[in-house]
Amino acid sequence: MSNYKHILLAVDFYENCSAVTERAKDLALKYQAKLSIIHVVDNLPLTDTGYGAEIAFNIDFMNELMTNAKKKLAKLGEEHAITEDLQWLEMGSPKTEIIRVAEENKVDLIVVGSHGRHGWALLLGSTANGVLHHANCDVLAVRLQEN
Ligand code: AMP
Repeated sequence: MSNYKHILLAVDFYENCSAVTERAKDLALKYQAKLSIIHVVDNLPLTDTGYGAEIAFNIDFMNELMTNAKKKLAKLGEEHAITEDLQWLEMGSPKTEIIRVAEENKVDLIVVGSHGRHGWALLLGSTANGVLHHANCDVLAVRLQEN
């Protein structure tokens, strides 16, 4: 099997996400691969409710979320020497955007946490599960323990 060349780390900034980051960094070092990071500002609760017309899409609120997320991503990038051109901030469905960015940038390994904000009820969290099922490349789900 050839070495990984481009690894994409998906971060939700939820507790435990540093374990996922460390694993992705280790792998990037081991394979001498490029390491990118992605965070997706999830707009699902605002747009896909089935009663969306009742709730105006609040652009100011989304802009504020994007600004805060950009700062967090930039800080993470700085801490791990990941340059700005390898930091992806997207808006939409996390699994869809993670897969799209991976495909468009020839990523050959996506690293996610087994669980994040979407809880522990399932064997895998919903984003991790969606990425695992739909990505064209390898996916590593780093097993996170519930605190
Ligand atoms: P979940 O499926 O929400 O339990 O999250 C599992 C993993 O998917 C997290 O540990 C992250 O690696 C990734 N993930 C979840 N939400 C996002 C997001 N909004 N942006 C980027 N990655 C995410």
